Amino acid sequence: MGMYEIIRNKRDGKILSKDEIEFWIKGYVDGNIPDYQSAALLMAAFIRGLNEQETIDLTMAMLHSGEIIDLSSIPGIKADKHSTGGVGDKTTMVVAPIAAAAGLKVAKMSGRGLGHTGGTIDKLESISGFRTSLSPEEFLDNVRKHGIAVTGQSKQLTPADALLYALRDVTATVDSIPLIAASIMSKKLALGADIIVLDVTYGSGAFMKKAADAINLAKIMVTIGEAAGKKTSALITSMEQPLGYAVGNALEIKEAILTLKGEGPDDFHQLCCALAGEMIFQAGLLADRDSCIALAEEKINDRSALKKFMNMVGAQGGDTKIFEKPELLPNAKEKLAFFSPTSGFIHSIDAEAVGFAALTLGAGRKIKEEKIDPAVGIVFKHKVGDYLRREDKIANIYCQNLLVGCQVLNLLQKAVKISSPPYQPDELIYGLVTKDGFFPFSQEERA
Ligand code: URA
Repeated sequence: MGMYEIIRNKRDGKILSKDEIEFWIKGYVDGNIPDYQSAALLMAAFIRGLNEQETIDLTMAMLHSGEIIDLSSIPGIKADKHSTGGVGDKTTMVVAPIAAAAGLKVAKMSGRGLGHTGGTIDKLESISGFRTSLSPEEFLDNVRKHGIAVTGQSKQLTPADALLYALRDVTATVDSIPLIAASIMSKKLALGADIIVLDVTYGSGAFMKKAADAINLAKIMVTIGEAAGKKTSALITSMEQPLGYAVGNALEIKEAILTLKGEGPDDFHQLCCALAGEMIFQAGLLADRDSCIALAEEKINDRSALKKFMNMVGAQGGDTKIFEKPELLPNAKEKLAFFSPTSGFIHSIDAEAVGFAALTLGAGRKIKEEKIDPAVGIVFKHKVGDYLRREDKIANIYCQNLLVGCQVLNLLQKAVKISSPPYQPDELIYGLVTKDGFFPFSQEERA
């Protein structure tokens, strides 16, 4: 077997065997297969596709390219969640504490943001003192003690994914459903949880622009998780507009804390309870999904989820005074208001454009090495479908200099569309994918 034949097989539309896939991944990680051959195979896989078995085999080969965390010394049910990305997505800061408050163990590794979507680790680092590179012992110890810990992605896990992702990034092979599924699921499986709940987003701010593609991505990820013996399910959610009101690191931490106090935006609150409820359901704590969502709500109402988040922040060295005094989080020097130029209904808030506006402020990074500014960002006052009068405030822009603020104001003016007929936005949660298939939440399937 040689790499030339493997590339030729995929180029000609043949199905790769498990041995061929393992040969590729092992050889690439060992440095015996050069970038140009891996790039050629990635492009062939991008164009020809990978079937279900090939995608499972690729995931497993990537998973076994590095260490796998052993959570067996932690008593209880270990649950993990993952979102395929979005703008204003601070769900981990709310969902993980709710799940922990319900008795699950959440050992979470998260990434940094790149491009228009933010990363959980960047958001948490806006809390003064918060440590995001825990040793494996401290990570597991915190999960044992508090039921929850969030740390940065370990380089020892799935080295094949780190190499392949960097190659895909520069060879226009990122947005392939099987390659995305294998990349995400290899990392999830390496974390050793019993349950994996996915939030697969679609829309302008997401990888998948259409709901139908998000469903297909979710289906293959659920199949991979179940094939690996994990209880896996996915919510399909809209990322047409930013999630919640806040976009920007410290601003999103403030919104997550407000949500844990029961004062968060409705859409974000609803999604967090649905995701945490699904984790609770998969863990078998209660018999039906509605009761599990109700339990998630209860963990917000009785403040036990807030307490879990405080415990985690304290255990990881973060300043817990922010829970009473959010003004202790980094603050931008300037604030600029974005007023409605006309009256009418908000027809759309382009999530991707808002992500790029936040990036322009310095809330994200265009290249991996860039430093981010935790204080800057955008806080909306309205959602799609809301009625506005002329001069009503649509958002505040938090910036360090008014020149950049004005540039961002200009970007937001283009990102928000106002029209006169009333407009009903897509429901936030479109449906659920389990091993038994896709279940739309609304009567009318819109895919
Ligand atoms: N996120 C990942 O981790 N991998 C992908 O391929 C795409 C998104």
